[in-house]
Amino acid sequence: MQINVSVVTPDGKVYDGDVDMVSVRTIEGELGILPRHIPLVAPLTVGAVRLKKGTTVEKVAVSGGFVEVRPDQVTILAEAAELPSGIDVDRAQEAKKRAEQRIETNKKDEIDFKRAELALRRASNRLDVASSK
Ligand code: ATP
Repeated sequence: MQINVSVVTPDGKVYDGDVDMVSVRTIEGELGILPRHIPLVAPLTVGAVRLKKGTTVEKVAVSGGFVEVRPDQVTILAEAAELPSGIDVDRAQEAKKRAEQRIETNKKDEIDFKRAELALRRASNRLDVASSK
């Protein structure tokens, strides 16, 4: 038995397929979902969605949003999501560098610091997912 997973962003659908298991990073931690899971909705943080099929695991980089779980269907509504093949590594490296510089120079401004920290997490997550192809 499999579970259907779709990953949707404001720009369109990034993934739609049947998998054996999917895991997502919620704000409370990693959540592994098998078919017939109880229904729930949970907020997501920056992280990788792992799609397990047999012995293979595909990853999708997700930058926040929500997961909606139904017994036969998981919908991930993401602010941004990319498959490894859709990640521009140079762009993520540049974004990471910029964020690190802002963290170094903006230590006193809490809002700028938090924004830079989130940008750093998005860029690092993209680099992790891109390197897993
Ligand atoms: P950047 O500073 O490079 O714009 P960001 O983390 O601020 O990065 P987001 O606001 O998360 O970017 O995303 C904006 C849009 O750009 C989304 O559609 C996202 O999928 C896309 N995107 C961002 N970074 C990359 C990347 N490295 N490769 C491919 N698409 C990306």
